[in-house]
Amino acid sequence: MAKEDTLVIHEIYASIQGESTFAGLPCTFVRTTGCNLRCSWCDTTHAFYGGTRTSRADVLARALSLDTPLVELTGGEPLLQPGVRPLLRELCDAGKTVLLETSGEADISGVDARVHRIMDLKAPASGESHRNRWENLAHLTSRDEIKFVLADRADYEWMRDVVRGRELTKRTPTLLASAVFGRLASRDLVAWVLEDKLPVRVQLQMHKYIWAPETVGV
Ligand code: SF4
Repeated sequence: MAKEDTLVIHEIYASIQGESTFAGLPCTFVRTTGCNLRCSWCDTTHAFYGGTRTSRADVLARALSLDTPLVELTGGEPLLQPGVRPLLRELCDAGKTVLLETSGEADISGVDARVHRIMDLKAPASGESHRNRWENLAHLTSRDEIKFVLADRADYEWMRDVVRGRELTKRTPTLLASAVFGRLASRDLVAWVLEDKLPVRVQLQMHKYIWAPETVGV
């Protein structure tokens, strides 16, 4: 078997999309195991280890069997696994609207052009800001979304400077900003965004409000 033929999978389940412009929609989540980052506020540490090696054909069949128009590949970091790119293509071929959540450290080039890439840019409080692969910005299109998760005012100011300094709205109109649950009040974030007239879309991590403290299968 070629290395693209299997994936290590943490979970496959249907829920609603909690973030991005697709928030609130029914969605099948394919969560891959493993991440090469260790964000201080990571809420999916359960996906760092373990998982089940599964044939790509089986992953595809299980994802399609949940029968939602929307399918998201998430992690961990999906792009660490060579089978993810062909799986994304196969999901698109099956007529799904396909989302990819990715850390911003992995190279996003070469992902099927039909996929909506939701790419993080890691702010300083994550502890992983030095890992941002800035070259990725050149690959983004208006179909893609950039996501900032912010833990404090310093993170906000970092985002503001990146949005303006790197002219992110020329890459994509969709810049998402959310507060780390329990660390930054969304009302403060909203006030700062309004004060600076920053062209970002403030969002709540909807799944947290519905299911916290559960983190698996939601
Ligand atoms: S990139 Fe995502 S999965 Fe990896 S440590 Fe950061 S938040 Fe967690």
